[in-house]
Amino acid sequence: MDSSHPQEQHAETRLVTSGRDTKAQKGFVNPPVFHGSTVLYPTAEDLHAHRGEFTYGRHGSPTTKAFQETLMALEGPQCAGVGIVPSGLSAISTTLLSVLKTGDHLLVCDNVYRPSRNFCNGMLARYGVETTYFDPMIGAGIEKLFKPNTRAVLVEAPGSQSFEMPDIRAIAEVAHSRGALVIDDNTWATPLYHRSLDQGVDISMQAATKYIGGHSDIMFGTVSANAKAWPMVAEGIRLLGVCAGPDDVFLALRGLRTLSVRLAQHHRSGLDMARWLAGRPEVARVLHPGLETDPGHAIWKRDFTGASGLFSIVLKPTPQKAVDTMLNTLQLFGMGFSWGGFESLAIPFDCDAYRTATKWAPGGPTLRLHIGLESVDDLKADLDRGFAALKAAM
Ligand SMILES: *Cc1c(COP(=O)(O)O)cnc(C)c1O
Repeated sequence: MDSSHPQEQHAETRLVTSGRDTKAQKGFVNPPVFHGSTVLYPTAEDLHAHRGEFTYGRHGSPTTKAFQETLMALEGPQCAGVGIVPSGLSAISTTLLSVLKTGDHLLVCDNVYRPSRNFCNGMLARYGVETTYFDPMIGAGIEKLFKPNTRAVLVEAPGSQSFEMPDIRAIAEVAHSRGALVIDDNTWATPLYHRSLDQGVDISMQAATKYIGGHSDIMFGTVSANAKAWPMVAEGIRLLGVCAGPDDVFLALRGLRTLSVRLAQHHRSGLDMARWLAGRPEVARVLHPGLETDPGHAIWKRDFTGASGLFSIVLKPTPQKAVDTMLNTLQLFGMGFSWGGFESLAIPFDCDAYRTATKWAPGGPTLRLHIGLESVDDLKADLDRGFAALKAAM
């Protein structure tokens, strides 16, 4: 940890001041983008000893160092290191490969990102790691699923389609008593709104493609770990050879600098839209842990300091054709995967296709919305038009 950025300062300040070495940058505010593979050593002795702050492009550059220091300052004092990987999914796969071995057992929350499940069911199964999925609301009841060889628990809070909020503190307490590690996909809240390493999580990862990048223009992933887990993650990254391109590292760092203002707006607009949607006659339920009526609200209030702009709605029973007509009518809400950029999105989804530990029966068509940085008045007008088209098509 850089001692010139004390933890007493607020996160907003640390996001701006960390990872900057103005003198080394000849006065410029931002670090240059180091495009590089080879790093030259001044003497044969230095070469033999691999001596030097930077040794090879894959292992880092002043650009990656600036990013890592800034994210570390945001994660808080428990963070012992930050690994950089080329995508959010590779943050998951790199983490799991770093901490698991053949014969191990893994517990995975039933609401995790679907490609994370595919990795467990595909590659991990092939290498002899067994996965058991569990109910996101299980809490301390997870104890009964532990086996002598359970090595890790993977959670996502909240799940990025269905938005159940697992009780990470309760799960971590059990996991640690059984000698297992807790891995959190913290993409939804980012470490700005959820300091998961302070709450019993050992490894916290980010699809930095989403809010950290913030502009829908990069693929990027990060793995932050505490002192217990960091040596495993660092070794895994080194052995697997994953890294990211310098332009994407630079853009991710630029994203971090403005994360606090963007997320504050996503939080405000997201909650405003969620409340408005909860009052619409076409909507049966809004799945957003920031709403007082949400089953995950108490945990969200206890563990999180804000919400991002992503949540889901359950429509009253409606033919899919009418929902499609609504989606085709929307102009400000684009249809596309990913989220966390400046623009609003709407996509239909169905968790029933892949869940195994719990039954997903929402009772109507479901839409996931990302509330971007547009005016909420314009977004409401767009949805008004969409609902009118939905009714006309029924
Ligand atoms: C998008 C996403 C990922 C994967 O990130 P990529 O950068 O697209 O690989 C992982 N977890 C969650 C929760 C996501 O939404």
